[in-house]
Amino acid sequence: MSSAPETPARHADVIILGASYAGVEVAYQLHRQAPANPPRIVVVDRDREHGYLPLVQERLLGVISAQTSKVQTAAYIEGLPGARYVQGEVVGFDPESRGVELADGTRLTARVIIVALGSVLEPPASVAGGELLMAHKSPEQFDALHSALGRVLDGSIATPRIVVIGGGISGVELAGELAALDGRSDRPWPTSPRVTLVGSQPLLVPLLGAAVGARARRLLSMQGVEVRTSSRVLAVGDGWVEVADDTGTSRIECALAVWAGGIAPAPILGRLALPRTEHGWLAVGPTLQCFPGTAQPEIFACGDAVRVVGGEGIWPTMQRAIECLWQAKLVASNALTLLGVPADYPEGIPPLRPHSLRKRFAYGVSLGRQSLVVWGPLCVSLPGINRWFRRWLMRQYLRRYAALSPPA
Ligand SMILES: Cc1cc2nc3c(=O)[nH]c(=O)nc-3n(C[C@H](O)[C@H](O)[C@H](O)COP(=O)(O)OP(=O)(O)OC[C@H]3O[C@@H](n4cnc5c(N)ncnc54)[C@H](O)[C@@H]3O)c2cc1C
Repeated sequence: MSSAPETPARHADVIILGASYAGVEVAYQLHRQAPANPPRIVVVDRDREHGYLPLVQERLLGVISAQTSKVQTAAYIEGLPGARYVQGEVVGFDPESRGVELADGTRLTARVIIVALGSVLEPPASVAGGELLMAHKSPEQFDALHSALGRVLDGSIATPRIVVIGGGISGVELAGELAALDGRSDRPWPTSPRVTLVGSQPLLVPLLGAAVGARARRLLSMQGVEVRTSSRVLAVGDGWVEVADDTGTSRIECALAVWAGGIAPAPILGRLALPRTEHGWLAVGPTLQCFPGTAQPEIFACGDAVRVVGGEGIWPTMQRAIECLWQAKLVASNALTLLGVPADYPEGIPPLRPHSLRKRFAYGVSLGRQSLVVWGPLCVSLPGINRWFRRWLMRQYLRRYAALSPPA
């Protein structure tokens, strides 16, 4: 942080780092909760628009338009009174001065800092050759995978095999959608693939329990997906994936292998001088402050980037888009509480609200032409309704951040 010029005055009341699910919602909530006198906010992200992740497999395979299923994040923020969008790469943060440093040397400061820099979809370093795996979270990953699919499915190989690694929700959804290419009259490429899904756990979607896992497996198998559970990916090479299961080690020959096996902390989280968990996530207290109960009350973090630590340890939060929205609402409320009193807190730091732990929420799991809707122990297969409902949710989401966009 030392080479950047010192900033004489604060740039804003609030800086929000990251403008995906958590960050954009913080901005929305700051304006919603203080409509008459919103704080001056600066939002920083490397991207100006954000594709809708819950239906990323449909966007990728042309079931819905990838272009129209994006939030125009920068335009939305720029339409908020007193708000500024800075497209840039965050490279450092000094909690003491609350100064944010960007790769181009820009230095921004504010009274309140909210870190919403999220996660990356990447294999762990223990997978040899993991850099050969493709993924579908960031815009670069999405574009690269889309292009690779075009090459693999252009008809030059009769039925290329695609391996999807990850037996969680993202993995089963991608495997299902790939399998559903077969028989789609509107499929974007001449060929459809054979699909192998590799999961390290004995069950698919283990989060949702044994019965749901067994049903997901059956519905995928019915659509031709080869499901290999209890199989750990050891290494990846050009045209193969090496897996170990209880029968030994084997290679799966494939035209393409995609990682959907779990997220890791965004690399920048390790360079922010903020408390972290042993796995590298930002450790926040129940009020979503990075330094709860100290003289540094104005630094918050939320979304995928955080693990809430309090009471008996790390809370089992959902790490889903809805969790980002709940956390963002609370962070906005707590930030406004602090901004409502003088910065030197002559009467002490006002009490802030804690996050509420919600362990259960409905899940819609798309499985190609099939799907499951899961609510606690209840699990029903409602492909038509699930598809309609998830698209309806997407339209509501996109509308939420379009309302104040300046006219084109
Ligand atoms: C494939 C997939 C499918 C999913 N499907 C669902 C689903 O169906 N339902 C659901 O509820 N949840 C789903 N999720 C989870 C959901 O997408 C995440 O919980 C959500 O994206 C987290 O949002 P976030 O804002 O915390 O972080 P992220 O979405 O990770 O965003 C972080 C932001 O920070 C920016 N950033 C990071 N580092 C820097 C830097 N150094 N400088 C500048 N900008 C930076 C990034 O550009 C990004 O915009 C899915 C996730 C994935 C990966």
